[in-house]
Amino acid sequence: MRVYNFSAGPSTMPVEVLETIQKELLDTDGAGYGHMEGSHRAKPYEAVNNDAQALLRELLNIPENYYILFLQGGATQQFEAIPLNLLGKNNKADYFDCGHWATRAATLAKPYADVNIVASSKEAKYTYVPSVENLPIRPDAAYLHVTSNNTIFGTRMTKYPKTNLNMIADMSSDILSRPINVADFAVIYAGAQKNMSCAGLTTVIVRKDLVDNDYTMPICPSIMKWKTHADANSLYNTPPTFAVYVLLRMLQWLKGKGGVEGIQIQNEAQAKRFYDYVDNSKMFSNPVNKADRSVMNLIFHAQTPELEAQFVAEAKEAKIVSIKGHKSVGGLRASFYNAVTDEMVDYLLNFMREFERKHLNECK
Ligand code: PMP
Repeated sequence: MRVYNFSAGPSTMPVEVLETIQKELLDTDGAGYGHMEGSHRAKPYEAVNNDAQALLRELLNIPENYYILFLQGGATQQFEAIPLNLLGKNNKADYFDCGHWATRAATLAKPYADVNIVASSKEAKYTYVPSVENLPIRPDAAYLHVTSNNTIFGTRMTKYPKTNLNMIADMSSDILSRPINVADFAVIYAGAQKNMSCAGLTTVIVRKDLVDNDYTMPICPSIMKWKTHADANSLYNTPPTFAVYVLLRMLQWLKGKGGVEGIQIQNEAQAKRFYDYVDNSKMFSNPVNKADRSVMNLIFHAQTPELEAQFVAEAKEAKIVSIKGHKSVGGLRASFYNAVTDEMVDYLLNFMREFERKHLNECK
């Protein structure tokens, strides 16, 4: 029995993709085996590795002067890989702080970098994204780090700072959900377990000159060096082969949906329906500045912690799972990644309407 899964990650995947993978598990493309059990040095995986890169390049319009790396270690590993790969000649690093993961990226850079926070919405519990205008960016910093979508606080950046610095973006929770201009960024990275694939894969899209000219800190371990992986076409050591294969199937599915432009229409429409309901509800509310609301992670509150606990319990009965807010902030959260269907959104909204009708008299 499948449930209505609104997990923030790893998250629900398209049933069509899961069914394809299920069919191919024992024999993919005539190899006679599936990608859970194939050598990463054998031809079938070579095709998967190259095809997934090519299709990602096509769907995100990634120019030829960018490497695409398929790594392990999560976005969290990249929080340290970024300073280690870029601060060899200059240890100044600027960070734009709009949420938990942005803070984490800056904190983990501190042992290697002279970190400067150019803006933060911490004082308002990250309910908005700071303005990207007139930031005190140090003109001689090595890079500026931003986080495109804040998974925990339910905000997203719709504008990026105009800067001559190399801009690095953590796009873990909204990559492939909307078009981006890759050339605006020096590095884009994302854990795969939301919009790209299953867990285990981290994709790094990095401008070639940053890898080919050596900006790496001398203490950077080989395994953390982007150059190590770029030179080996992501086959330096065993890559997360199954997750890369799943990525390829997810990208093929996304292409069938009209690519990022096509899925963006679905994502925006679903989020609009959700926020319209919540804004008109007598029970539910959303604390985020309207212009900054995330289309991927939709947070909401139900007046009291007791009502929220009741909501989670009744949701479970109704086969709705992973609807609780992150443990650090509480409240409720529904993640509407690319794979979330209109039918799932209808089901959730109907459940919320019914819950509101039943429990409204318990509200203050
Ligand atoms: N950045 C963002 C925006 C995230 O949402 C997450 C995980 N939810 C991370 C980084 C950390 O990712 P990982 O657990 O793959 O290291």
